[in-house]
Amino acid sequence: MSELIDKDLITNDFQPLERVTVKTFDTSVNAHLFRIELENEGIESFIYDEETITMDPLLSNAIGGIKVKINAKDIERTKEFLAKREEENNPPCPNCGSKRIMTNFRSFKSASGIISAIAAFLFTIFPPLFKTVNKCLDCNKEFESLDT
Ligand SMILES: [Zn+2]
Repeated sequence: MSELIDKDLITNDFQPLERVTVKTFDTSVNAHLFRIELENEGIESFIYDEETITMDPLLSNAIGGIKVKINAKDIERTKEFLAKREEENNPPCPNCGSKRIMTNFRSFKSASGIISAIAAFLFTIFPPLFKTVNKCLDCNKEFESLDT
């Protein structure tokens, strides 16, 4: 599953009554789940290209996935919702409770200098040897990410 923030949302190049893409999905199930989340926030949303892709999944890459769109007038609320959602999906630091977490940090905790360089080299050859962790940006504590 890939969730790509559509360029439409970033460029702000839209007319007030236009619909803009919030996210794109590979499967219709995920698109609908996201739509329900928006609906719970009171944001009206619309699914595009669902039938085309459900009938021919290979077309997904060609036309950019199943799109969940919103009315352009809801764009600010939607951005707020996405920011909140992102924050809730990231676990807080177990040490200090901070939400400023760097995710998928590769732990070379005890390594320094040349050893760190070797570790980085080994990582490219034997990725499973190194665990991926989250790192707190406030207290520097490393902890395992929940989603692995
Ligand atoms: Zn912390």
